[in-house]
Amino acid sequence: MTKRTHEEVLKNPVFSTISDAAKELSLDSYVIGGFVRDYLLQRGTPKDIDIVAIGSGIELAKLVAKKLPGSSEVSVFKNFGTAMIKFQDIEIEFVGARKESYHRDSRKPVVENGSLEDDQKRRDFTINALAISLNSKDYGQLLDPFDGIGDLKRQLIRTPLDPDITYSDDPLRMMRAIRFATQLNFIIHPESLQAIADNKERIKIISNERIVDELHKILASAKPSLGFSLLHDTGLLPFIMPELVALEGIEEIEGQRHKDNFWHTLEVVDNISQNTDNVWLRWAALLHDIGKAPTKKFDNKIGWTFHGHEFIGSKMVYKLFKRLRLPLNEKMKFVQKMVLMSSRPIVLSEDFVTDSAVRRLIFDAGEHVEDLMTLCEADITTKNPKKQKRYRNNFKIVRQKIEEVEERDHIRNFQPPISGEEIMKTFNLKPSKEIGMIKEAIKEAILEGEIPNEYNAAYTLMLRKGKEMGLGGN
Ligand code: ATP
Ligand code: MG
Repeated sequence: MTKRTHEEVLKNPVFSTISDAAKELSLDSYVIGGFVRDYLLQRGTPKDIDIVAIGSGIELAKLVAKKLPGSSEVSVFKNFGTAMIKFQDIEIEFVGARKESYHRDSRKPVVENGSLEDDQKRRDFTINALAISLNSKDYGQLLDPFDGIGDLKRQLIRTPLDPDITYSDDPLRMMRAIRFATQLNFIIHPESLQAIADNKERIKIISNERIVDELHKILASAKPSLGFSLLHDTGLLPFIMPELVALEGIEEIEGQRHKDNFWHTLEVVDNISQNTDNVWLRWAALLHDIGKAPTKKFDNKIGWTFHGHEFIGSKMVYKLFKRLRLPLNEKMKFVQKMVLMSSRPIVLSEDFVTDSAVRRLIFDAGEHVEDLMTLCEADITTKNPKKQKRYRNNFKIVRQKIEEVEERDHIRNFQPPISGEEIMKTFNLKPSKEIGMIKEAIKEAILEGEIPNEYNAAYTLMLRKGKEMGLGGN
């Protein structure tokens, strides 16, 4: 990696403008952190750029905003001494170089102005402490006091300073270490890993919002199990998601064992991550079995059972989302629905697959029937090749049937073919329970395949039902 290549990336007008503005203010400036790391790793287009100024980052931001056509107004965060401008889709964050010291009971440091090197020392990892100069005297030069380049090559997450102090000062860094290891498929340095295990309890001072940000990023990675195994091995997971930890372990009674549902779950999450980028569907995979711990029983006749775990699990989703301050909106409802229905396609595929069972599945899953199938296919983790083949085949049949039935019966976005108003008009009824009964009878007849999902057939059935119920009419 030569100096020239760094100048190449700095061709972006953003950098030359910052360089000019800094010169005008007689201060030095550097691009630092994630941008430099991801550029050296050639990891796609950046979402944000961090600039450190030896002096006032806020002043620099203001002048850059003036000079850079098409940039946004400056947002100043006085308390943090930082400022941000948006340019195209990129957020450019400015901060004055600082020196930090911490108190034990908080992750808010005491901050003083400092040199570039002071600022690099306060960065979480060597690979995040890399800086490139924007100063005319050495424009494009890489400043790497902790051998971040070496760690990029070794694929290593390592702290610039003593890891024990680094993690204790700001325990969020423990989550970040695990998140970067997962995203980049890097190894955490053994001393760092030990320091995380030693400081695990300090995670309690971190807000759930910050923790969930990292969990989302872990879940959005190519192989989320890397992160969850690290959370498990370091002992962080019990502080974050005890519901998952409760799934760990295999019990044996009378020679009958059940599978380890924790490690099974991680496999399911990895499987589904190959087939979807929808992070909420990945959440559903992570949580699909959480009801198994509280419902586990041993029955002398049938062995291990987890009766009703889907229902209990979907209730637990709400509690977990609430505790972690995840959104309690339609995303949560989606996850709940996936958990609640997570066994339906399996049960269905074990039997002979009838049209009416498929219609009911489509009716209950509605627009999420595809997602549900994706979840259930990811749930196949058996190592028995015969079983594996049988399940896959059955799911193929279920998917085919879903397509056939849906094409014919249009159940996915089911709208009753006869409205309540029409029923009222036909039988001269005021709003009453009879209307609901007739609508229900029509829906049932359609799902059972007794009548097609069509107006005329539904109208005839309505008349017959009305007669049976002794209703008069026009
Ligand atoms: P990404 O944006 O992909 O999440 P990033 O490395 O840019 O990765 P940011 O959270 O955007 O992460 O932070 C920008 C930089 O600020 C980091 O590269 C790192 O140098 C520094 N940093 C962020 N959070 C911390 C922290 N908790 N402790 C120390 N340094 C941090
Ligand atoms: Mg960033």
